[in-house]
Amino acid sequence: MHGNGAVAVTPDAFQPGEPALFVDARQRRRLVVLETGGQFHSHAGTIPHDDVIGGPPCSEHRSSQGARWMVARPTLEDFVLTMPRGAQVIYPKDLAAMCTLADVGPGMRVFETGVGSGALSIALLRLGADVTGYEIREDFATRAGRNVRLFLGPGVEERYHVHLRDSYEPLVHGGFDRAMLDLPEPWQVVPHLAEALVPGGVVCAYTPSITQAAAVRQSMSSGWFDVRTLEVLHRGWHIEGPAVRPDHRMVAHTAFLTVARRSPTTAR
Ligand code: SAH
Repeated sequence: MHGNGAVAVTPDAFQPGEPALFVDARQRRRLVVLETGGQFHSHAGTIPHDDVIGGPPCSEHRSSQGARWMVARPTLEDFVLTMPRGAQVIYPKDLAAMCTLADVGPGMRVFETGVGSGALSIALLRLGADVTGYEIREDFATRAGRNVRLFLGPGVEERYHVHLRDSYEPLVHGGFDRAMLDLPEPWQVVPHLAEALVPGGVVCAYTPSITQAAAVRQSMSSGWFDVRTLEVLHRGWHIEGPAVRPDHRMVAHTAFLTVARRSPTTAR
């Protein structure tokens, strides 16, 4: 603080153009991009964006009709579940498992196809990876780029390169450490990875149907090791006083994950 009358600057304050998550007392959640002069509208009144901009990254606000809203920076999970989407996104439980099983880390060169709405891209980039994406739909590629920049900021573009390409055709990029496949026929991409993935590199394919997983396994019958297929079950619990039990409802199925490592090229 310099001298009298200086305006206190909130560290890490909300900036215009940033996404903010509004959560009400009934856990209803809304993702809003803050704009100078903008208004947050709810069933119970409004909150000016200017009350949030420049303020701390988590604060409580009252709407014009007295409703309480918590306003916070969205976590990756919040953002992925509330961001604008075209294609169906990968759920956080699967994002976490895929990134761990494929062992994604800083500086790794990751091939991703298709990019869809960019949920998996965000998870990969957040871990510090360098992502090359192939996507056939231009509108999805544009949407993914927008979502990635909105959550991670414009600096991330140096590590995110999406190409409008069909991954069933031979790849024109290579030297990847990891590959993440989320498209209808991943078994058509696996053979291309024999060239494009480094020996010891990991591939993870996300397939809603077990017949797709079986076809992926078939495509990995040689040239791969440590091959496995699994699913991730996430069951929430209701905990309120003595009432402690699993939630009545759960997302019972999303997809199967098939993971494998590229074998070294065999000596002749
Ligand atoms: N993983 C993404 C969702 C991907 S949805 C996310 O987390 O948001 C599947 C995507 O694969 C769609 O965007 C679709 O356009 C794309 N796709 C389908 N076939 C393709 C192909 N042959 N080559 C490249 N992308 C393809």
